[in-house]
Amino acid sequence: MLWEIKIISEDSAGDLRKNESFLKHLTSGSLTNKLLESALKGTPLLKMGNGNPKIMLTAGIHGNELAPQIAALMVVEKLKEMDLSGSVFIIPFSVPYATMNSSRRFKGFDMNRKASMVGSISNIIIENAKYLKIDSLADFHSTKPNSNPGVESIFCSKKPCQQSYEIAEHISKVVGSKIICHKIAGTLYHGALEDESNISGIPAVTCEVVSHNHKVDPGSHERSYLQMMAYLNYFDVINL
Ligand SMILES: [Zn+2]
Repeated sequence: MLWEIKIISEDSAGDLRKNESFLKHLTSGSLTNKLLESALKGTPLLKMGNGNPKIMLTAGIHGNELAPQIAALMVVEKLKEMDLSGSVFIIPFSVPYATMNSSRRFKGFDMNRKASMVGSISNIIIENAKYLKIDSLADFHSTKPNSNPGVESIFCSKKPCQQSYEIAEHISKVVGSKIICHKIAGTLYHGALEDESNISGIPAVTCEVVSHNHKVDPGSHERSYLQMMAYLNYFDVINL
């Protein structure tokens, strides 16, 4: 398997091993170790495979949501053993510094509201996605019970990218997560990574699994992993 790691932002660097709750759920793997080392320098972007389609998967925009970040590493270790039909770009921890401190915010801001602010890490992710001519992006989160949304779900929109909805439908069909569809991307609030991606013409979804913040609730990382694999399967990058 061809792969390479690039650092896309340096001021977000962090030592994830300092987060005990994260460390507890880590399974070892050669690429996992490489990514953790890279995070000491900044936000790592891992490219696996080659050619089209080009699919991007992100986690850890909220550093205190640990389940999807653990799941992204599980995906990395799994894909390493597979033949991919296309390229998969994975950012397993968008803000290593925030994950190290198990913080939802970075520099005082919610990065999932700042994707249109030039220089913010979520904006840098969008700019990389555009530059790389990514075909689709999915951003993975966890939501604590009895919060908003508080249920395993997939956020999507029908405009300007109808495919956002179609991707959500596929993931929902495979893993059963509830679809939460907005008519037009970015009208409810501004600066979500998913919305800004859709507005940029890159079809995107946000996937949520249920887990308490700062923790990996039992099974939550496996649910996030299944969402990720269903997403990749939509584009026939992998065969489930
Ligand atoms: Zn979140």
